[in-house]
Order: sequence, then C-alpha cells, then structure tokens
Amino acid sequence: MKIAVRLDDITESMDWPKFLRFKGLLDYYGIKPLLGVIPDCKDEDITGSNEGAPGDFWEYVRDLQKEGYSIAMHGVNHVYVTQKGGIFGLNRFSEFAGLSYDEQYESLSCGVDIFNGHDLITDMFMAPAHSYDMRTLYALKELGFSRITDGFGSRPYVYKNMTFYPISIWQGGALKFNRKGYCTFTVHTNTLDEADFKRYERMFEDHRDRFISYSDYLEVTPVKRGFAGALAERICAGLKSKLSLIKHMVSGS
Ligand SMILES: [Zn+2]
Repeated sequence: MKIAVRLDDITESMDWPKFLRFKGLLDYYGIKPLLGVIPDCKDEDITGSNEGAPGDFWEYVRDLQKEGYSIAMHGVNHVYVTQKGGIFGLNRFSEFAGLSYDEQYESLSCGVDIFNGHDLITDMFMAPAHSYDMRTLYALKELGFSRITDGFGSRPYVYKNMTFYPISIWQGGALKFNRKGYCTFTVHTNTLDEADFKRYERMFEDHRDRFISYSDYLEVTPVKRGFAGALAERICAGLKSKLSLIKHMVSGS
C-alpha cells in the first residue's frame, strides 16, 4: 500500500519546534504532505512554543504550496459546537454536523474568504474530528470544493460529486499487511512526543518505497462509490472508533 501523509491543525499558534522537526523528517525522506490549515483558529488547545515560527504565517504556507505541498482548509475555527458525528460518526462532536445549511455555508464561506484574502487557494477540505454531514458537503460544493481528505478504502472514490481520499484505519496494519492501493496517515504534530518522533523516523526509514507525496495521491484516478462501499465505510468507522477507545483505555489518556 502506498502511504500519503497529512498534517492536521496547522495554524499560527501551533507548536513550531514540533512541526518543524516533523517537517524536517519529511523533507529528508522527500515526502510532501497535505497540510490542514485552520483559517481562523479559536481552539485554545492548539498551542505551543513559538520558536522558529515564520514572520508571516500565510506567506510561509503559500511558499510551501509552491514547493509542492498540498493544502486543505481544516474547518474554520476548529471549535466543536455540536455533539453530532455526521456521516462517519467517528467522533461525537463537530464544528459543522447538525447545524443548518445556512449556518454551515456562512461559516465555511468565512473560511474561504480568509484563505482567499491571503491568496491561498484550495479545493480540498479537512473536517475537524472527521465530522460533517450532507449539508456540509452541499455547502462545500457550492463554495467550490471538490475533494475531501477522509473516508475509508484503498483508493480515492467519488461520492455525492465529491472525491474522497481515504485515511488509514490502522497505521500498523497498513505497514504490516502490504495490500494494493493507497491510504493516508494522519499526524498531529502538536501532540507528538519523543517516542512518536522515533517511531515515525523508523517507519520512514524502513518503508522508504511506500511513502508518497500527497500530490501523487491526488493523481490517482478515483472509483465510484455505491451503497455497498458506503456501508463498508460505516463499519470501518465504527471499528476505528472502537480501536481508538481501546487505545485510550490502555494508555490511560
Ligand atoms: Zn484538527
């Protein structure tokens, strides 16, 4: 399986030393990730040292995009205002799922305006907590989005006129069972500890041939997803939700 990488929670207030350390690792192995940039972050949990932060955040993001990094709009404020899981039901909280179409459209268009105001253009959306509903998809479509980084499966697929780029349900499994296809590893650099950095370094070193840049993933021709695929996806989401619950119980976090 070819593996692309996405980095969530990219914002001015994030922990820059951790982000830059992970970016350095990706640069070394020639992997260009997808960056989930939050237009107007109001999530106070995404914070950390400012050391090494660029003078102009937006210019920095634009430069990375020019270098070949892929960019997604990662919600708008990254604050959870409903207890809905939306289409996937992976988490029981959301910035969008459960709100009316008008509320969602208004919020999302604010995000787009902020991006455009900084000359940052993308047609890809990354939902905080993987939660969004059909109204989110319709509002996104109306605002010119056509790709979503989410879903399960072994290759990109089209559903409701949107192209979905699946994420990995289990990183260890994706590495161990080298099936055909593609997936995305989701990384939150802000919460990585020393052991995580070592684990990723070993992963990139041992599986050099498996990791690809996100822009290569975007080149893969998508398949059409019907009812059976959507059902399998619900099952995968339920399984991933249970897996992360077990992980939290074991780690006590
Ligand atoms: Zn996030």
